[in-house]
Amino acid sequence: MTVDEFVSALKNAGIQLTENQIQQFEQYFDMLVTTNAHVNLTAITEKKDVYLKHFYDSLTVAHYEKALQQTTGTLIDVGTGAGFPSLPLKIAFPNLQITMVDALQKRVKFLQDVVTTLGLTGVTIVHGRAEDIGQDPKYREQFDYATARAVARTSVLAEYTLPFVKIGGEFLVMKGSAAEQELADGQKALATLGGQLRESFEFTLPNGDTRYVQIVDKNKKTPKKYPRQAGTPSKKPIG
Ligand code: SAM
Repeated sequence: MTVDEFVSALKNAGIQLTENQIQQFEQYFDMLVTTNAHVNLTAITEKKDVYLKHFYDSLTVAHYEKALQQTTGTLIDVGTGAGFPSLPLKIAFPNLQITMVDALQKRVKFLQDVVTTLGLTGVTIVHGRAEDIGQDPKYREQFDYATARAVARTSVLAEYTLPFVKIGGEFLVMKGSAAEQELADGQKALATLGGQLRESFEFTLPNGDTRYVQIVDKNKKTPKKYPRQAGTPSKKPIG
């Protein structure tokens, strides 16, 4: 997807980028490939692929949870890596307040550099594991939205994300073709952690790849014992 195709696909979806925002995406792309030469950030480095599989794909969650486009609310992105999906969301919807979490210090340093270079405000970057940060009262049940992409299967991801979400907030699940199976396997985890599926959307990216966005409502408090200690959710998923 070229930059022009990216801009017009978003326009067709009702998302109009300004010249400044288009330039911020260009700066982000430049920093991603430059830094990736010495820090492992992503396997995707071709410009057309970065625009489709990182930038456009990250924004698809806002096609299905349209409130993200207008909100001044808070979103936490768990296992954000090089900033996906939260940095494209922040660039496209500057009123959104984002918190990015990652366990790898080198990726956190890259994110800090991007945020400074692009002049973004309303961004918090936290280095650590979701299991530890989810027990910190500063972050626990503080967010309107939690999301994550390519971090873990849904049963595990629920334990990484739902502890951060306020009652009345949402866990936004972004998945590929295994989404329905992962959701079925994750039902027990979602219910245990206070979540309930509201809606599942299936769609295709412009290259034909299947994607899902699933909206999970947080309607009960997460029991204190979750998240369990670092490493346990992936070794012994709930259910
Ligand atoms: N979300 C990004 C994306 O879609 O490109 C990065 C995906 S990358 C495959 C997974 C990232 O999750 C890595 O950067 C890793 O350090 C982070 N991660 C995995 N488990 C984590 C945990 N329990 N807490 C915090 N970060 C975690």
